[in-house]
Amino acid sequence: MSYKDALKEFFGEDCLLNEPMSLHTTYRTGGPAEVYVYPQTPEGWEFVLKLARTENIPLRVVGFGSNILVGSRGIGGITCSTKKMNRILVEKDTIKAQAGAPLDKVAELACKAGLAGMEKLSGIPGSVGGAVYMNAGAYGQETADCLEYFDIIDLEGRPATLLKSDLKFSYRKVEGLPPCIILSAGFKLSPGNFTQLLAARSQVQHSRVEKQPLEFPSAGSVFKRPVGDYASRLIDEAGLRGLSVGGAKVSEKHAGFIVNFNHATPEDIKILMDQVRQKVKEQFGVELELEQILWGTFDE
Ligand SMILES: Cc1cc2nc3c(=O)[nH]c(=O)nc-3n(C[C@H](O)[C@H](O)[C@H](O)COP(=O)(O)OP(=O)(O)OC[C@H]3O[C@@H](n4cnc5c(N)ncnc54)[C@H](O)[C@@H]3O)c2cc1C
Repeated sequence: MSYKDALKEFFGEDCLLNEPMSLHTTYRTGGPAEVYVYPQTPEGWEFVLKLARTENIPLRVVGFGSNILVGSRGIGGITCSTKKMNRILVEKDTIKAQAGAPLDKVAELACKAGLAGMEKLSGIPGSVGGAVYMNAGAYGQETADCLEYFDIIDLEGRPATLLKSDLKFSYRKVEGLPPCIILSAGFKLSPGNFTQLLAARSQVQHSRVEKQPLEFPSAGSVFKRPVGDYASRLIDEAGLRGLSVGGAKVSEKHAGFIVNFNHATPEDIKILMDQVRQKVKEQFGVELELEQILWGTFDE
């Protein structure tokens, strides 16, 4: 039996073939995933990991696709989505959430429960797993700040619990993480006033609407902040606001974002990323580092 048939037999409707990644990424563009599955149980993960190992098939995990650009020719192998693993449990001053739970929902529940530490993460459109993996953050708060531990399964199918102190978290980076799937995360919060926390959440939400081009598909900030500066400031000063390639454009509202304003192909976006990086390097001598992740094969 082919590995695709084996996955179809095990996962049934939770296994899709040639699934367009434009449906699973916030850029709303991208070629197909050869196989797209929704594992939801330890047995499901063990099955797909074992199959990938024994058949030597590449395997990836996607949360909400809010930091990924997939090439037009798509991605080979197996792409696993955590989207159907989305339970959240609030207990005293801790919250345990599965990897596919929306980070924003966890932040909302924390505020409503009068628990401080996640309110500034409101509005980040990623999953809990993606937020831990990227150490997502905003307005001076990072996922790692309140993270206590997280549960993983490694590529050999072995489960483990990692403590925050086992790893080194820094700006949009986690060091020491073995190749693995993050299954759930536990957050330890501090007592706070729920009216104030909801007000802080609402302020962050307003600020995002005001400053970010949320009316267009994007994947947030394209580049990391260079030390002591902002990528958006450099891009703006280089006169690149509004620069476009095909249906992709450097946002006029926030120069740190590239938006898909008119049926952009992944290649439009990638070419624009390269142009921005090159022009900023020419003008300021600064090498911008991509925050977004490129997956699969792009057309030449
Ligand atoms: C409008 C907008 C605003 C944004 N604002 C912010 C912001 O303020 N701050 C910020 O930090 N980011 C921001 N982002 C970027 C993005 O939301 C974050 O990086 C988020 O953490 C990505 O989560 P995700 O679930 O979408 O991950 P994905 O994009 O699906 O994946 C990102 C990476 O994480 C890995 N991954 C995902 N889930 C798992 C898992 N369970 N186990 C192991 N690896 C996993 C993937 O393999 C991939 O390498 C923004 C994006 C948009 C579109």
